Amino acid sequence: MDRAQIVIVGGGIVGASIAYHLATKGVRDVVVLERDTLGSGSTTRNAGGIRLQFSTEVNVRLSQRSIPMIERFSDEIGVDPDLHQVGYLFLITTDADAAVFERSLALWERLGVPARRLDREGVRAVFPELRADDVRFATFCQKDGYCDPTSLLNGYVGRARTHGVTFVEAEPVVAIAREGGRVASVRTPKRDIACEVVVDAAGPWAAQVGALAGVSIPITPLRRQIFVTDPVAGLDHDFPLTVEMATSFYFHRESGGVLMGMADPADKPGFDDSVNWGFLPTIVERALDRLPRLEKANVKTGWAGFYEDTPDKHPVLGRVEGLDGFVCAAGFSGHGLMHAPAAGEAIAELIVDGRTTLDISPLALSRYARGQLVTEHNVI
Ligand SMILES: Cc1cc2nc3c(=O)[nH]c(=O)nc-3n(C[C@H](O)[C@H](O)[C@H](O)COP(=O)(O)OP(=O)(O)OC[C@H]3O[C@@H](n4cnc5c(N)ncnc54)[C@H](O)[C@@H]3O)c2cc1C
Repeated sequence: MDRAQIVIVGGGIVGASIAYHLATKGVRDVVVLERDTLGSGSTTRNAGGIRLQFSTEVNVRLSQRSIPMIERFSDEIGVDPDLHQVGYLFLITTDADAAVFERSLALWERLGVPARRLDREGVRAVFPELRADDVRFATFCQKDGYCDPTSLLNGYVGRARTHGVTFVEAEPVVAIAREGGRVASVRTPKRDIACEVVVDAAGPWAAQVGALAGVSIPITPLRRQIFVTDPVAGLDHDFPLTVEMATSFYFHRESGGVLMGMADPADKPGFDDSVNWGFLPTIVERALDRLPRLEKANVKTGWAGFYEDTPDKHPVLGRVEGLDGFVCAAGFSGHGLMHAPAAGEAIAELIVDGRTTLDISPLALSRYARGQLVTEHNVI
């Protein structure tokens, strides 16, 4: 039987960040097992968005940890994450969203988030081409924006490898053995690996990995799609990542064109990641309504991936009670890229130091059994 101190299941951004942070704390006897290729899950299919503007304190605090880590990524890791801090602009058009965002503005002020409330004039000032005559108000935070997911992944993987972490592709974990209330080993089609700790960082597949260890984790895959246009004449400058909160339609600048996404309310949980081109007209309608300049733009590509959805739209982070050595770091509900730096640091601290410098106790799996849920509202 092979041996490793820690086995991380899943070679996406979360697994890579945990591996890197373990390595920087001197733990190098780490194997990351990826069943496909590194980043082949949601990590290379997302919009790259990073933001502080969440409705719950724990999500804001995860972002407050993560964003500075992305800001200094080039210096620390040596890879440019192509960070564009152009701000997130949330457009509020309904009573229900207005009430939530008024509460969020108070939360942000208390937590030191530099977000501000904008009236229509203010919206025009930050994004003149946008149609905003129906907007009741907007919120804007200049620290928010987007970055390149592949660069973040490659940076963490490269640095972790340099420190001695092993990443293995095309080797799925198919069984997890328990002995006397703790994890003992993982099995792949090629071998068994004895280990002290198993980290479930399998993103949308985390519930399946949990089930291998007899742990029930409420994470379900939800398809989300992205479409990208060719370069658009007259939009050759940066503009905020803009979210129409009432419909979840969002867009940001991408390679001179526009990247757009929107949740399809008809999508049911499941592992179908084919592109539903039939939903494109709905997105295009929202796009033309908000940004008439897109009239002549061509959609050049589209793809689909999965949100790793939890009932309260927060991740499951930390040790799992009842099974020593089993740690979960998944279920970010569409925010895993931006929260991977903080999550990786916290899980490494938990494993090595036994405690974390960021309070992740509200994110324990046991919150579901206790019924102690606070739901994130600002999910796109
Ligand atoms: C369209 C879209 C837009 C998004 N936009 C954003 C955004 O703007 N900002 C943001 O922060 N987040 C966004 N997200 C969410 C983000 O992509 C995810 O939260 C993040 O990638 C989760 O990373 P992960 O490492 O947990 O999961 P993944 O990247 O999915 O990695 C999990 C890995 O585990 C592997 N795996 C599964 N089972 C096994 C097994 N048994 N053995 C070994 N390996 C296994 C998988 O192959 C996969 O590579 C978006 C997602 C989508 C789909």
